[in-house]
Amino acid sequence: MAILGTAFFVVNYFFQYVSKQLEIRDREVVGLETLSRLHQIAEKSRQELEISNARFTVLLTSTGEGVLGLDMDGTVTFANPRACLLLDIDYEDLIACDIQRFMIADSGSKSTRPQKILELLGIEAKNSYDFFNWRTAKDEAFVIEYSCEATVNKNAERTGAVLLFRNVTQERGNEERVQYLANHDDLTGLANRANFHEVLKNAVARRRNSRSLAVAIVDTDHFAVINEKYGQQAGDELLKQIATRLKSSIREGDHVARLHSDQFAIMLADLNIAEDAAMVAEQIIKEASAPMLFNLEEITTSTSVGIAILGEGEKDAEELISRAISALDNAKAEGRNTYRFFNPDMQEKVEEKKRVQILLRNAAENDEFTMVYQPIVDVKLGKIYSSEALIRWPPAGEEPIRPDIFIPIAEESGQINSIGAWVLSTVSKQVKNWSDDLGVCPSIALNISTKQLKDSVFREHFIEMLRVYDIPVHVVELELTETGVMEDEDKCFEELIELHKLGVKLSMDDFGTGYSSLDYLRRLPLDILKIDQSFTRGIGVSENDEEIVRVMIRMAHAMGLRVICEGCETKAHLDFLIEHDCDLVQGYYFSRPKSVQDITALFIAERDGKINIMDGDAS
Ligand code: C2E
Ligand code: MG
Ligand code: MG
Repeated sequence: MAILGTAFFVVNYFFQYVSKQLEIRDREVVGLETLSRLHQIAEKSRQELEISNARFTVLLTSTGEGVLGLDMDGTVTFANPRACLLLDIDYEDLIACDIQRFMIADSGSKSTRPQKILELLGIEAKNSYDFFNWRTAKDEAFVIEYSCEATVNKNAERTGAVLLFRNVTQERGNEERVQYLANHDDLTGLANRANFHEVLKNAVARRRNSRSLAVAIVDTDHFAVINEKYGQQAGDELLKQIATRLKSSIREGDHVARLHSDQFAIMLADLNIAEDAAMVAEQIIKEASAPMLFNLEEITTSTSVGIAILGEGEKDAEELISRAISALDNAKAEGRNTYRFFNPDMQEKVEEKKRVQILLRNAAENDEFTMVYQPIVDVKLGKIYSSEALIRWPPAGEEPIRPDIFIPIAEESGQINSIGAWVLSTVSKQVKNWSDDLGVCPSIALNISTKQLKDSVFREHFIEMLRVYDIPVHVVELELTETGVMEDEDKCFEELIELHKLGVKLSMDDFGTGYSSLDYLRRLPLDILKIDQSFTRGIGVSENDEEIVRVMIRMAHAMGLRVICEGCETKAHLDFLIEHDCDLVQGYYFSRPKSVQDITALFIAERDGKINIMDGDAS
């Protein structure tokens, strides 16, 4: 605009100059005695005017800006060649044109602002016009940048205006693209993270107290699996379709964005009640679960949603997002394909998870894990059948952390592989020690996470350990613990089948809860079904639980499987289980998980006939 400014100054100067000369001429009293003087003035004026005109002509023809002179009606009174070029019109046709001919009448968009040039001339606009959007005589739209200034006569009355303008369509296009990219996600066309934060921050600041504002974080369940199975292009296509579905699920005034990867965020504005947010979440989950087509193949997915609602008097947008993310974690932990609201307990859980994650990083290195063993009793023989190896972790200087807390965290981070490898070699070594010390090799049950079966590393290590410690394969039982949906099901199944072929017994742990499905019973070469302790706890309390235990035992037997009931704490539990034909029982009634020293003493006492395990734990 510096050039425009200078040009404007020169043009304006020209008008002032002409006005001044005319004014002088008007004022002169035409008398004989002054004729000579007048002649001199006229001659001087003519010369000055010629010089100035020449300068002005050069300027007008060489400048990159279009220059238009307008009268008070907005009619073009002069134009430089550039103006003719920009408006795509001959000089003769341009002169006497109404300037409004080149403005684009707008269809009622909100962006309309009055054209400054019309305001300056006090002309009533014939239409509302798009600010800065003009068109050529041949109706080609273009974006201009302009400045205008009024011209005045000797009495300081307005005579019209000079308008300088240039075509900035290309620059604006580039600027708009840069602006667009700064605020949008290129793949889905949705707003991006930065834009979402900005919009949310403004909404939080503007919020009226009586209305609620919520953030919902939407995450595609097992997106990595889809990417792996169908390829990245399918993954991209899926994200685009989810984006479209999200846009159709929200209401006017809401704002949807893609935060990263397969995570989206929605700002739910102006909610009446929290249930409104739940309705939107339900809608999102429903929409997202409809199959999507990619290369004629149907891909089905699901989503989890975490929702946080801005509390009364709260103003922190960032906090709101982080709460929604905590709620999302909870939705995922509770089986995915669902939504959860944030509450303070959730926050605590998340903080605890972070603490465990940090502590876990050094646990293996610092040799912080130990193993304990709990007997599993063959109630028909009245003898210890095997022992389940259970990990213990007292992080240095901290209270012990339970395995059902840290194992899922280790599974998520991938640390389960090194922990599992440590468990396998520690237990193998121990079995070898028992075999050497007791003269018989006791059976052992090992918990393995299906996350350890993503490749053949576990199987190879397992075979190696059996070989190194000279352990017969039939004494080992692998308990499949499932804390989430099996990710690469085919590979897991393949590994389990290979392990089973070696002669390892397989048991399905915690049956009846979580993720262990009937489908696994059908497809896996299982030997044992382990009924979850939550059902055993219901014996004598809940008829429903008792019925479930009875049915599960019958069903397992019908499938040729043996049954372990875990969590047997009382004689009444044991009696019920024996009565209903349970084969194997584990629980505090017989023994709590014991250190190596204590369980070794138990093995010896039983071997020597000093105790009857069926009498329960006297200690
Ligand atoms: P799980 O495999 O179902 O193990 C049984 C859990 O029930 C053990 O808890 C055990 O101490 C507890 N338990 C046994 N009898 C009773 C009883 O009569 N009453 C009650 N209330 N509890 C009883 P623990 O040791 O805390 O282990 C929890 C879970 O952690 C295990 O459940 C297993 O899923 C996982 N886990 C433990 N060790 C390992 C491991 O080495 N690797 C893997 N992947 N997971 C492990
Ligand atoms: Mg187990
Ligand atoms: Mg269990």
